[in-house]
Amino acid sequence: MTSTPTPMMAQYLSLKAEAEDCLLFYRMGDFFEMFFEDARIASQVLDIALTSRGEHDGEKIPMCGVPVHAATAYLQRLIKAGHRVAIAEQTETPAEAKARGGYKALVARGIVRVVTAGTLTEEALLDARQDNWCIAIGEAAGAVAIAAADVSTGRFELIDCSADALGAELARLGAAEVVASEAGEQTHVATTLRPKQGFDSGSGETRLQALFGVATLDGFGQFSRAGLAAAGGLVAYLEHTAKGALPFLRPPRLTRAAETMAIDAATRESLELTCTTGGQRKGSLLDCIDRTVTGAGARLLAADLGAPLMDKAAVDARLDLVQYFHDAAGQREQVRAALRALPDIGRAIGRLAAGRGSPRDLGQLRDGLDGAWHLGERLAKIDAPLALLDRVAPKLRGHGALVDLLRRALVPAPPIEASEGGYIAAGYDLALDDLRDAGAGGRRAIAALEADMKAATGITALKVRHNNVLGYHVEVPARSADPLMKPDSGFTHRQTLAGVVRFNTPALHEVAAKVSQAGAHALAAEAAHLADLTAAALAHREAIAATADALARIDVAAALAERAAEGQWARPHLVDHACFDIAGGRHPVVEAAVARSGDRFVANDCSLSPDSRLWLVTGPNMGGKSTFLRQNALIAVLAQAGSYVPATKATLGMVDRLFSRVGASDNLARGRSTFMVEMVETAAILAQATPNSFVILDEVGRGTSTYDGLAIAWAVVEAIHEDNRCRCLFATHYHELTRLAERCEALTLHHVRAREWKGELVLLHELSTGPADRSYGLAVARLAGMPPATVARAKAVLAKLEAGRARTGGLAAGLDDLPLFAAAQVAEAEQCDAIRSEVEALDVDALTPREALDTLYRLKALA
Ligand code: ADP
Repeated sequence: MTSTPTPMMAQYLSLKAEAEDCLLFYRMGDFFEMFFEDARIASQVLDIALTSRGEHDGEKIPMCGVPVHAATAYLQRLIKAGHRVAIAEQTETPAEAKARGGYKALVARGIVRVVTAGTLTEEALLDARQDNWCIAIGEAAGAVAIAAADVSTGRFELIDCSADALGAELARLGAAEVVASEAGEQTHVATTLRPKQGFDSGSGETRLQALFGVATLDGFGQFSRAGLAAAGGLVAYLEHTAKGALPFLRPPRLTRAAETMAIDAATRESLELTCTTGGQRKGSLLDCIDRTVTGAGARLLAADLGAPLMDKAAVDARLDLVQYFHDAAGQREQVRAALRALPDIGRAIGRLAAGRGSPRDLGQLRDGLDGAWHLGERLAKIDAPLALLDRVAPKLRGHGALVDLLRRALVPAPPIEASEGGYIAAGYDLALDDLRDAGAGGRRAIAALEADMKAATGITALKVRHNNVLGYHVEVPARSADPLMKPDSGFTHRQTLAGVVRFNTPALHEVAAKVSQAGAHALAAEAAHLADLTAAALAHREAIAATADALARIDVAAALAERAAEGQWARPHLVDHACFDIAGGRHPVVEAAVARSGDRFVANDCSLSPDSRLWLVTGPNMGGKSTFLRQNALIAVLAQAGSYVPATKATLGMVDRLFSRVGASDNLARGRSTFMVEMVETAAILAQATPNSFVILDEVGRGTSTYDGLAIAWAVVEAIHEDNRCRCLFATHYHELTRLAERCEALTLHHVRAREWKGELVLLHELSTGPADRSYGLAVARLAGMPPATVARAKAVLAKLEAGRARTGGLAAGLDDLPLFAAAQVAEAEQCDAIRSEVEALDVDALTPREALDTLYRLKALA
């Protein structure tokens, strides 16, 4: 049976229909209420009581609610759990509703905002040290582009990339939310789908023009059509979540994926650049090097590390500044101390621009811009040729008038909550001061009244109190109330509660009216100032955001210098040819772990050059092969990100693409067909690595049987050596692969050293040239605590196997006769050509059946 819903339910249901994919927070008094399925979900996620209210279609309506004043914390948990929340507020006061529709009129409500993971600005909902990207993907004419916006700071980037590089770019940005056209292919998880109309380049252009108030976008640079499509989709979405308000976006920065080192998702994961394979920041390279002292600095460092540059001059400019701070330790210390004290002005202006600013945000701007100005003064005195400093330092100064205004207008520590007032400084507005005096005078008068009434009635427990329902009133204990109840007492009865009775008096009423009127006027005056001051700040929002960027850049440079000094790192030298020459290289994360357990990390050299560009590294398990491979990949990332590197000396040619793959058995936790994954990922390397790339392959081929594995590893090494010709470190336990050294002229053999000493295996973690002299598997087994009897048995089995191998020539017997990878490809190509010319020469109609059969036999013989 369907019954007519109550007017309130009808209103709720129509709002819910507008926000179907969201949980709806429906404002009722001091609560946001949720109903039906929303209530069930929220009560589970938030662990709050599920109650019910009224009936709908004969069933009780499930309901739960959260207090408005604590809504942020609940929102945070819902967003973290992957939900989106639409907020429906009352859009008129009860008085307005009454005037409009009579006594019983329902207060109008509307959705004022959709809160999603990618559109947050609240400090409490964001991680101070992490960017919060909302991303849209656009396509046009076969090209792909990403539009990325962080509305908490107004950063806006448009990245043109090939379809191949899309995954890598998405992995780099690590978006909080991805928006895509519902017409496109669904390749990404956690995607918000939007109507495809938003995603075309024409409407994108119009939207951007409107957003930035320009007639043409030419001033911003050359937009691709895919870029415009992505930007259009993104801006449309942001407007949707802000219910029509234009988002705060700075002019877009146009980049191409090719301007940064390409690092695909698998490589990022395996190198644990910004988070570990377990998804934690702790334990990642970023965590290990991050010495920034501001949230904005931490965000920029993460972005830098995720996108190492390809432009040598730009890298050198960053390194020059790091070197300056590295060498000038005193300066570094003072700059860092100054930065540490600064509030996050980038996010403060973001909140103000989103219409969610508070008096405290203005206070943060005042203090942050003032601090920036002083820092700018200090940096201006530096007399050194530092291109990067010359570019950013001037952005630190120049907000004098705004700072001055805010300094005059605001109290020293303005509150987050504006509704109580009290944030505008005394002396800024004389009329406001008068209102406050009137209020204070009134409050004094009330205190005097209270004393008079006590004396007159003899009731010492009499108090004047205030609440939102009664306003100012007199309160006495119930037992003393009787005399005041008399008609001629001068007291008017208002309310009787359990232990107390409340009254009013004409005198109190009169003073109270004055106080509350003065208070209301003062609040209104403060609110008007807040709006004016916010507008004054927003008029400079682009310049303020640029100052925030400049502070972040200085923080990053000083922090990298600090880290370098702490770890005795060296400045890398970037050169124009594909070399890789590291002396005394270390793995910063492993080094820290080793140091914690009281050991010393063994530094190792790595020297790749045209005649030795592929290193085959063998040696026992746990010997340090993986560590060595990774430390060199990390050094390449750090160097091109503009950091010093953990080595005594480093010279390297720019790496265009970095690949890291680990043999399947290390990745069992992924729960996919791991060998398949390993092969897919390895195939991607063979397809994409160029002579300027850097590849590390760790035990590739391990995920399958010995023969398959060896065969695959062999073929991969050959292909990389002959075809890709990139710099490569290849760790393997297939001793047989060392034979490749005789055939591949640029492949050299290396091993991690180990020694058996008094029957114990000692891993030296030290790299040495040549193949490992033997395998230490059994010694490792003993080291791992395998029972002596089992180890002895394994020894006997091994002896048998080795005897057999000696007789047959071993696992790799016969491989020496194989032509090399490239030669094999040539032979195959020649074969195809022969078959093709034979077929082309055929005149099929002229053949007799007998001749046709003969021809087939001949072709078969060629194949
Ligand atoms: P493999 O890849 O050869 O199995 P790993 O690189 O995983 O070995 O190293 C195993 C462990 O040895 C590491 O976790 C670390 O504790 C230690 N280790 C590796 N390299 C070094 C080094 N250069 N100096 C000191 N300890 C090291």
